[in-house]
Amino acid sequence: MTLIDKNLAHAHKSDEALGEIAKVLFRPMGADGVYARTALYEDIVDRMAALISRLREPDTEILRFPPVVSRHIVEKSGYLKSFPNLLGCVCSLHGTEREIRAAADKHEQGGDWTETLKPAELVLAPAACYPVYPLVAARGAVARGGVKFDVACDCFRREPSKHLDRLQSFRMREYVCIGTPEEITDFRTRWVARAQQLADTLGLVQNVAPASDPFFGRTGQMMAISQLQNSLKFELLVPVRSNEEPTACMSFNYHQDHFGEIWDIKTAGGITAHTGCVAFGMDRLAVAMFAQHGTDIAGWPASIRRALMLD
Ligand code: AMP
Ligand code: ZN
Repeated sequence: MTLIDKNLAHAHKSDEALGEIAKVLFRPMGADGVYARTALYEDIVDRMAALISRLREPDTEILRFPPVVSRHIVEKSGYLKSFPNLLGCVCSLHGTEREIRAAADKHEQGGDWTETLKPAELVLAPAACYPVYPLVAARGAVARGGVKFDVACDCFRREPSKHLDRLQSFRMREYVCIGTPEEITDFRTRWVARAQQLADTLGLVQNVAPASDPFFGRTGQMMAISQLQNSLKFELLVPVRSNEEPTACMSFNYHQDHFGEIWDIKTAGGITAHTGCVAFGMDRLAVAMFAQHGTDIAGWPASIRRALMLD
């Protein structure tokens, strides 16, 4: 066993051990992957968010989004082609007072009130960066050097699971860059290095590996293969539940001209803009920290406590 193997052997936690950790971090809310968060847990999420903020590059515009997005934006972004199974849509009872009353009363009479639901113009945000692209498009050509954003929101993905690292409702923080292909690949290279340093600072066993998105269905498999072949996605993996299936805590994404085409974003040079984003799964990072270092924060290594400004 090499030293790395030894570290790895201790890095992940059995489901049983994670269950014990869950008791300290979360409270049940009656649905898999939807949990109330304790003060202990939330404090670490906040401190990690502050640490990520301290790494922000200059000239980055900060925006915080609500947990819902215009359905139009998500439809136009191609989400239904790629991940229709994950999307949550806001639905509500429409109509006259009489119609709404009748629909709601179905429930009181033991019936199914949801039969009468109609979709609203909103979906639950599946990722933080979707609203950025139309916003930038509306401002005209992107300035030389590109533009950068710091965005975050509560995200929803319909993937119920008992695993602590797979939530239906979770926090995502992203740095986004829009510019020329070179600007985006440079941005991503800088962030892969910075993110690995960050994970090392936090004492997380990690590696960065090529990855693909869980595209839906059989055509999705082709999209995933092409994504891998073109090195469009990398993930920072941490062994939380197992060494064989480490947990993706961050992703580094190059969308090429996908969003630039859809929203007609141009660079100062007049070409279609390219985009990229680096996403931090705040809840996965926090769960990884507790899985790796335990729930007694006072006993965490001094360097980690310093990085999180706990001392
Ligand atoms: P993605 O857009 O799939 O690359 O997601 C960005 C990051 O969000 C991932 O690297 C994870 O850290 C986090 N994430 C994605 N899905 C989930 C989930 N179901 N539960 C918790 N975190 C998630
Ligand atoms: Zn993104």
